[in-house]
Amino acid sequence: MADQIIIKNLEIYSNHGVYKEEKVLGQKFLVSAILDTDTKRAGVSDRIEYSVDYGKVCRRIAEIMENNTFDLIERVAETLAKSLLLEFPLVKSLEIQVKKPWAPIGIPISSVAVKIHRGWHRAYIGAGSNMGDRLEYISKAIEQIEEQEDTKVVHVSSLIETKPYGGVEQDDFLNGCIAVDTLKEPMELLDFLMDLEKQAGRKRMVHWGPRTLDLDILMYDDRVMNERELTIPHKEMHKRMFVLEPLVEIAPYLMHPLLHKTVIELKETLEEELANERVNQNTTGN
Ligand code: AMP
Repeated sequence: MADQIIIKNLEIYSNHGVYKEEKVLGQKFLVSAILDTDTKRAGVSDRIEYSVDYGKVCRRIAEIMENNTFDLIERVAETLAKSLLLEFPLVKSLEIQVKKPWAPIGIPISSVAVKIHRGWHRAYIGAGSNMGDRLEYISKAIEQIEEQEDTKVVHVSSLIETKPYGGVEQDDFLNGCIAVDTLKEPMELLDFLMDLEKQAGRKRMVHWGPRTLDLDILMYDDRVMNERELTIPHKEMHKRMFVLEPLVEIAPYLMHPLLHKTVIELKETLEEELANERVNQNTTGN
């Protein structure tokens, strides 16, 4: 388990709540936070710059709560989590609890609270284009990802020219992979990437057909999910050389959580399969 810095029941008087009197009169809030961070270097050196200054964290929590008025403690918690993760880079993830000990609901209650867990996630995105200025579409997308406050581009692979996949007659693709650290949850990341595709003028006409910009989530930490709109890891990634070739460049030892193979191993397996297919085609052709 990671090291933690634990802040318990920081007392702040501020003005959040759905009811008018909560906004006008204000009330007491108790905020607790568990910051996941590596404390070893600070522990060994006894130097504050190698750790997270919990005094600063507490003052920042107070400032955010006192300078805003939100309806919901969900929103208070979300705002605090995002600000702390952005402003204290040594915090990798955190738990925040915002408690109202005096929630004015007309019935005695000892307290009500919202507790959330948020953090940085490493995601790998596959990018492709085979219409118009392909390099410009992909470069623009990388720039737009970088402009996001909650997402940092960590690595960009080389872009490779590849033959189209799926049997539709069309121009060659330019493909690459991007590693990002992001605070976005998987569905949020998908919505954002689909918005970038839309901005690039992408229209979904032919399945497997030509596109100005295609952005896929290949992996997201070691998360496995299979929802209607989103499957992670990407269902086809291990079958596509145009994904594995650039991905191996930026994340050779990344482990596929279902196939239990590294990207290098996935690429080797696919190379063998493709070679066998070629042999079979030649044998049947003879
Ligand atoms: P395509 O652009 O042809 O790759 O298809 C995009 C559609 O696939 C989107 O509408 C998504 O809802 C769905 N999809 C499922 N899993 C993923 C994924 N891992 N990354 C991106 N799109 C996905």
